[in-house]
Parts: sequence; structure tokens; C-alpha cells
Amino acid sequence: MLGEMYPTSHHSEARAGESSKIELAENLDILTRAQLDEMQQRNLARTVDALKGNPAVAACWPGALDVRVPRDLLKLPLFSPADLQASCPPASENLVLGDGRSGLVLRSSGTSGRRKMIYHSWEFSRRVSALGARGVRSALRPHPRRIANFLYPGELNGAFTFAQEVTELLPAMSFPMGSSALASPETAELLRENRVDAVICSPSAGTGLLTGDATRELLRGVDSLLYIGEILGESRERQLADARPDLRVRSFSYSTSETGPVGYQCTYQSGSTHHLHEDVLVVEVVDTDAERIQPDGRVGEVVVTMLTDSGMPLLRYRIGDEGFIETRPCLCGSAARQLTLTGRVGMSMNVDSTTISRDLVMEQLATLGISDPADCQFQVTQHDPGFSIRLLVSERTPPSVTTEDAVAALHGAYHMGRVFTAPLYRGLTLERVDSSEFHHTARGKTPFFVNRTAG
Ligand SMILES: [Zn+2]
Repeated sequence: MLGEMYPTSHHSEARAGESSKIELAENLDILTRAQLDEMQQRNLARTVDALKGNPAVAACWPGALDVRVPRDLLKLPLFSPADLQASCPPASENLVLGDGRSGLVLRSSGTSGRRKMIYHSWEFSRRVSALGARGVRSALRPHPRRIANFLYPGELNGAFTFAQEVTELLPAMSFPMGSSALASPETAELLRENRVDAVICSPSAGTGLLTGDATRELLRGVDSLLYIGEILGESRERQLADARPDLRVRSFSYSTSETGPVGYQCTYQSGSTHHLHEDVLVVEVVDTDAERIQPDGRVGEVVVTMLTDSGMPLLRYRIGDEGFIETRPCLCGSAARQLTLTGRVGMSMNVDSTTISRDLVMEQLATLGISDPADCQFQVTQHDPGFSIRLLVSERTPPSVTTEDAVAALHGAYHMGRVFTAPLYRGLTLERVDSSEFHHTARGKTPFFVNRTAG
């Protein structure tokens, strides 16, 4: 059916900016590698053709118009979120292909710096939904019939409507709950009465809903959890497996506001491993210091080129994740390569002008038996004057671990030592709490670092 939707050029003359020639496979997993490469190649040629219509694009990526094969992309500079901010509407019209008068405006939920605005054409937005639906069909066979959507709606956040459109395309029945319904005591009962069989949630909300004492039994009928927004994490995965061994847990989509879906899971994949939507994008894993492609199996920064002939082109975009390409083919037989995410690039926080990275903190906490970042939250509270640190650890942390242990372990890291001796430092406390008591953002994310003001 999707094969009939694309290309959309025949009947869209009257609809501005919608004469896309980008092809989309109905089922990526049945293509041979050669067929997949050919399709990617054709879509790349269409993208370069479209770039020729906007000379300003060449200013963003010198040499872009000479790209013939995916390998040629290596000659182009990397494009960062800061570049996006400068070249995309409303600041500039540089990054618009075709008629930019209609479309979808989103804002990325970046945790640092200025928020990035993203302008997608309606055609691009429809392809985003089609890719999402294709991914869920691959992840859950048979696919769910009644899906509750608990994502955060509105405020220029695209995930909620994305989930709605994917549900429509599956096709399945949608229950648009929104993130605020998670707090309602009636929600689980409502899902049970209506025989809802799948929920789309952030990992923290989904885990809370399906393993919580008050809701677990009521939600026995839910056999699938589709999560999006952050990595599930080993400890949540274990928690779900313990409470609900029958539950199908899959990534809803590895997706960003800027790029749309980058990866999807098949029935053999779990955790942070995804197949790549390689007919409509090119993914590179690069060593950003040396600007070289990493060999398969080696961790590097994930860089994505979206193949599109409308909306906002993105070539070699640094989406902010780190990961590696799997060296072995997937058991499902798909020729689409697999990317395993390992974390966010440069996940760090500035504490009293000292930069602390999550990896550094975790490395030290590992000596205390705390190995999953999802099991802790590093909260810095600003007082007037001074600052203090609360290290929250989940109920899965060994009860014997004390504040003194944490301070001693963290002292081992040079930068933390500097924080502990800063004149404004007031102390660190370790608190063992239920992970639901961690600070969660309104969009359902559980940041590792949290900055708070006392009061
Ligand atoms: Zn697979």
C-alpha cells in the first residue's frame, strides 16, 4: 500500500512542495543488499537534484552538488545543531527545498543550548509516519490492534502526532491519552475496559505503568510496550522482564525531530539495537576527532544524511548519539544494517565551572556495584551562595552503599576532586529512592544530570 503512496508526484501538482520523487520500500527487510543499495542510490540522486534548486544549500555543504554515491558524502563537512540554528527558518531560508509556504514546525528537545527549530514539508512529514508504521510492522508481528498513546502532546513536540499517524497507518485503533493521563488513577482501568493491547510511552513512564503495584494487574491485557525518547537501559529492561515476562518490549522508533525515523527494531532486536531505514537515509559512524569512518563494531559519533527532495535537507547531521554498526547480520535475515546506540555524545554537566561527564561518574560508581546510568541521577542544587549535590540511586542499588562510599569513589576522578574542594561546595548526599522519584522532564525523559535551585 505504501508503494502506491510514493512517489506522490502524479496527483499533487496543486499542492505546494509535494512533488516528491523519493521512493520508499514497503518492506525493507525483504530487499537484497543490492536492491537496497540501488534504492538508496536513486534517492540520493533525487536529493542532489533537489539541492540544485537552492544554491544557498551549497553554502552549508560545499561540494554537495557533486555528490554521486554515498561515499562522496565523506567529502562534505559535518553539520551540527548550531549550524542548523543558523541556516534554517525562521533565521534563514537557506535550508528549504521547494515551496516553503506550508509544512510542520517542530522544536527539538535538546537539553543544552538554544532550542533548534525544524521545518518539515508535509510530504516529508507523511514519509516520517510511513517509516514509523513500517518500523512497527517489523517490530511486532502481528502488530497491535488497540494502542494507547502516552506521549507528550503539543508545544512543538512531534512525537505525539507521529504516534497517532503511525497508529492510523498500521492500521490500528488509537487511544490518544497524552502524558498527563499517566498520573490519573482511572487510566489503567480505562485501558483494561477497552482491551488496549499496546502502549506507546517514554521508557520511564512505560516501566512505571506496567510494573507499578497499582497498575500491573489491571494491565495484563497489554502485551506490547513501544518506547521512544531515550534508551530503555538494562535495568528497566530487567525490571520489565521480571514483572511481565510475556511482554513484547520494542523501540517505537529511533527518531529525532530533525531527521524523522532513523532506525526500527525487528522481532529479534532489543535494547538499543536498530535496523537502519537505509532506503531513505545514509548513516555513518565517525571518529569526529580524526574525521574518519569507524570500522564496523567500533563506537563513534552517529552522523545521518536524510534523503529528501522537499522540506529541510540535512546532510551529515550530527544527531548527538554515539553507537556502532553491528558486525554480524541480524537473525531476521534483513539486509538493512544494524546500529547499536551506546549513549549521547558529550553527556556532561558544568558544576561550578568544572565539566563532569556521565561516563566519568559511572566509571567511579561501578566500583560500588552501580553500573546502569538509569539507576542514578546526579542533581546539583544551587544555593545562594554555594551548591550541593544529591546523588539519587534506585532501589536496585545495594543497600549497603553509603554517602561516604560514594564520595570516596567519586574522589578518584580528578575533575570530581576539583568539585569537592571548590570553595562553594556544600556537600554530597547519596539517597536511595524509588526510581519513580527521580526527576523526569515533562516530556518523559529522565536526565542523568539535573540542575536545581534551592527553595
Ligand atoms: Zn533484524
